[in-house]
Amino acid sequence: MQILDQFRLDGKIAIVTGANTGLGQGMCAALAEAGARVAGAARRDCAETAALLPPEQFVPILADLSDPGAPAQILLETLAAFGRVDILVNNAGIIRRSDLPDFTERDWDDVLQVNLKALFLLSQAAARQFLAQGGGGKIINIASMLSFQGGIRVPSYTASKSGVRGLTMEMANELAPHGIQVNAIAPGYMVTNNTAQLRADEKRNAEILARIPAGRWGTPADLGGACVFLASAASDYVSGVTLPVDGGWLGR
Ligand code: NAP
Repeated sequence: MQILDQFRLDGKIAIVTGANTGLGQGMCAALAEAGARVAGAARRDCAETAALLPPEQFVPILADLSDPGAPAQILLETLAAFGRVDILVNNAGIIRRSDLPDFTERDWDDVLQVNLKALFLLSQAAARQFLAQGGGGKIINIASMLSFQGGIRVPSYTASKSGVRGLTMEMANELAPHGIQVNAIAPGYMVTNNTAQLRADEKRNAEILARIPAGRWGTPADLGGACVFLASAASDYVSGVTLPVDGGWLGR
């Protein structure tokens, strides 16, 4: 296959969680542009994302990943719409900020549930489907700078995203023999709802910008290349990595 053809996703079916906004929306658009049809799962309606994509390439699924039944529901609805699945992007995630002495058990449990437990259960459901279908598959987990660093005032987020990086390697080890690649993308500081609080804080915003070698916050479109690469045949021998897309933040 010619090198650029290896990046094409024609005929492929992708699930993207957290598809209604932010990075998930950007990755839905990139995957669809490369040719994939996308099942976009979100707890709110995906009208904004649907408006960006050709109608035949997008199906919305309403699901709340704090509900233990959601991973199975997302897989079932994807199969009902498209008959198979080839790519899973575990993007949905939440963050809670508070000084350590005041951090609540609720803020621990809620974040771990969505960012790590649901990610595992949906990956497991997708892996079972990939194995039943034959022909391999791709799982892309959305990690964070806090898969590598400690961060501050975000203990459950750091624990969950460090867990995502470890789990990515673990699942990659088990699934690589079956032609299934599991990798992660670690976005740097990106303009989405997730960082609205940080960007609104003038002092933190200036500190963050000063430390990003690229000199700007990232955007959802900045993840498109990494996402399509890890979803495509071009990355068939890439397994278990967490790829930073961070404007150079980690190298600083
Ligand atoms: P965002 O705009 O807040 O989007 C998060 C997405 O996850 C939304 O679609 C949200 O749905 C969905 N979600 C949250 N809880 C859910 C649940 N219980 N069930 C189903 N969906 C749920 O933030 P984002 O920046 O695009 O974040 C996407 C991913 O990137 C997250 O995993 C985040 O941790 C990670 N990340 C972001 C940055 C950054 O700088 N922005 C950096 C590193 C990593 P609702 O809209 O309904 O809440």
